[in-house]
Amino acid sequence: SRQFTRPLNDLANQWNSLLSAIAGAERVFEVMDEEIEERSDSASVKLKNMQGAVVFDDVAFAYDEGRDTLSGISFEAKPGEMVALVGPTGAGKTTLIQLLSRFYDPVKGRITVDGTDITSISHENLRSHMAFVLQDTFLFKGTIRENIRFGRLDATDEEVEGASRLANAHSFIMRLPGGYDKVLDTGGSGISQGQRQLLAIARAILAGPSILVLDEATSSIDTVTEIKIQEGLQRLMQGRTSFVIAHRLNTIRKADKILVLKQGRLIEQGSHDELLEKGGFYSDLYHGHLSMNGEEERV
Ligand code: ADP
Repeated sequence: SRQFTRPLNDLANQWNSLLSAIAGAERVFEVMDEEIEERSDSASVKLKNMQGAVVFDDVAFAYDEGRDTLSGISFEAKPGEMVALVGPTGAGKTTLIQLLSRFYDPVKGRITVDGTDITSISHENLRSHMAFVLQDTFLFKGTIRENIRFGRLDATDEEVEGASRLANAHSFIMRLPGGYDKVLDTGGSGISQGQRQLLAIARAILAGPSILVLDEATSSIDTVTEIKIQEGLQRLMQGRTSFVIAHRLNTIRKADKILVLKQGRLIEQGSHDELLEKGGFYSDLYHGHLSMNGEEERV
């Protein structure tokens, strides 16, 4: 999991850097952002409202010439649907998300959001409609309130608290000395990993994105917090198109669509029931005949 959380964190940091730039916080981040913007001079479309209809049409991508990391990727996510990305490490799940976020552009095929090719949408605009909840939440030195408000810088205190309640973060925050005014250190030391996730959920609810990217935690979190996180995520995902890099069967089963990736190809797609019916890779995985990495398990 380390392998794919790192690039996703880079990606989230790009988002955060944009917010910092808006806040006038860090010049370094602005420069980084300008560099990205330069790649796409023609990207000028700004979508005001985004429904979150995502289409990949025969998309291919290569980090190195002559070796496709992803190829022939075609699928459709309707507004509000939950899409689970499943497959062994190195299959291309993170890369797919990075293409959707325009961290990279496809070398072949196209990706549209609400019918518009995303290469014509400005980075800033595309980002403003997306939010990330990752395994390692980006927290900066500042109060809990400031950290949540990072999701939408003009949110009022009431809105911050409202989002925290929906995220199931309010009660733990109120138990902290200082409550919403408690100062967190960089990285959020002093609160648990589960609590950091609740803050990430509150932040994302406040941001109100049309498209959501979740990287499901692989490490174990105590049961009570885990239930709170699941409930918070449920509320966050409601009405938004979500892409979940999923590790848990419970999550995968709930997905409207499961994309099974293997060695850069989309080998199967459908709901849990459809894929079981099909009796392919996913079904073998589910029935325990295969490990995630496709090796037959020894009996
Ligand atoms: P997953 O998220 O499913 O684990 P990734 O999308 O991270 O898969 O990786 C897909 C393939 O692309 C892997 O073979 C990985 O080694 C390679 N890869 C990922 N990032 C880079 C990069 N920045 N440069 C070159 N190759 C990369």
